[in-house]
Amino acid sequence: MNYKETWQSVLTFLERDLSKGVIATFFGTAELAEIGEGRARILCPNRMALEQLRAHQSQLAEAFRTVCGEDHQFSFEIKPLVNTIPQDPGTLFHHAPPNGLADSYSFENFVVGISNQLAVGVARAVAEQPGALHNPFFVYSGVGLGKTHLLHAVGNSIKERVPDARIIYASAERFTTEFIRSIQSQQTAASFRRKFRSVDALLIDDVQFLASRTASQEEFFNTFNELYLAGKQIVIASDRHPAEIRDVQQRLVSRFAGGMITDIQEPDLEMRLQILRRKAADQQAQVSEEVLLSLAQKIEGSIRQLEGALHQLVAVARAQQAAPTEELLNAVVKTTMPVNPFITPSDIIGSVCRAYRITAEQLCSPKRSREVVLPRQVAAHLLHQISKASSNQIGELLGGKDHSTILHGLGKIEKQLATDEILKNQVESIRGEILGKNR
Ligand code: ADP
Ligand code: MG
Repeated sequence: MNYKETWQSVLTFLERDLSKGVIATFFGTAELAEIGEGRARILCPNRMALEQLRAHQSQLAEAFRTVCGEDHQFSFEIKPLVNTIPQDPGTLFHHAPPNGLADSYSFENFVVGISNQLAVGVARAVAEQPGALHNPFFVYSGVGLGKTHLLHAVGNSIKERVPDARIIYASAERFTTEFIRSIQSQQTAASFRRKFRSVDALLIDDVQFLASRTASQEEFFNTFNELYLAGKQIVIASDRHPAEIRDVQQRLVSRFAGGMITDIQEPDLEMRLQILRRKAADQQAQVSEEVLLSLAQKIEGSIRQLEGALHQLVAVARAQQAAPTEELLNAVVKTTMPVNPFITPSDIIGSVCRAYRITAEQLCSPKRSREVVLPRQVAAHLLHQISKASSNQIGELLGGKDHSTILHGLGKIEKQLATDEILKNQVESIRGEILGKNR
């Protein structure tokens, strides 16, 4: 493995502990300049990235240990300007084309089992005859069970059949952001409308994030109606049944219920095993049937976690030039912290508010006074650590803050926690309260 590959593997491992946003922003732009004899020299593009890397030394050390099999001392330096290689963020994470469709998600690479066969059946029918059979098509499930994959598969399949079909895939978050940006001038508002109302199929992901933004909900309602009346296909994914989405107006809920609603359940053992076989083959990794079975038994629930564990196992095996054995698997699985499904974001926000004696409204308000900024950062930190929420999701949960604001806040609080004992104790006691409640 050369330095670049080593660094890439380290970044993959960091995803266990840190959000993709933090990694892409601070770690993706750094590079490994030298490694050997227990030392690693890392070049950072600027001071902020350097401080971030330093603040995450323990995670970094852990990732290096996993990838290289030994401990390292780190030195961090700022890259001299002449050496700066422009990094394409697209090489790190998938870059979405303008219509938002990722072509790696298809029906062909989607494993069908009892838990998702109804949803897949409907999705296929929708892709064959958009707008005709099930409109709208609403699919819901817990995280990591394939909703996003399915939405893209529908889009890609329509595109295959009808190459000039106009299709847009967008998360509700993206719809909202683009809408808010567009209302600054009449011209941009008109082009937003044109864009979303002239499609043959609209695929909206994570619609639960549409909640509470009345202007964008209104816009979505109108977009929905116009497309629906024109016989255009609408597909919606959500983490819960329409009737349970908070703050979505009743009239929109009844629109959702007017078509086909299906859910995706957690995969059973047989299906988990099938998925693993499939993903191992896709990665051209030789993993024995026993190890795959053992992995399928260890990780239940989210397919994303299952996929992540396999990916890590293969990466570690490759890095150590060893076979992906049962033993290696145990080491990998032990470090994959499961996300606690019983703690909701509102539990976390509630505990933070109680600790700082402020209300949730204050916490989520646009105010920037000291009394609310610190609790907000603490809440963001805990949402990130306990719920593994992304900066976008955290922004949404904290009253519609921009994700870059959240990233900035996260960086700040982490730095402060490294030096401020009192704050650290406060945060630990809030965390204890949150976790304790669910024991
Ligand atoms: P969700 O949107 O429900 O949170 P995703 O669609 O992002 O879940 O799926 C998480 C990961 O699991 C993706 O990499 C996806 O390709 C994979 N995945 C989910 N379901 C299946 C399946 N039935 N077959 C193959 N891969 C799947
Ligand atoms: Mg998704």
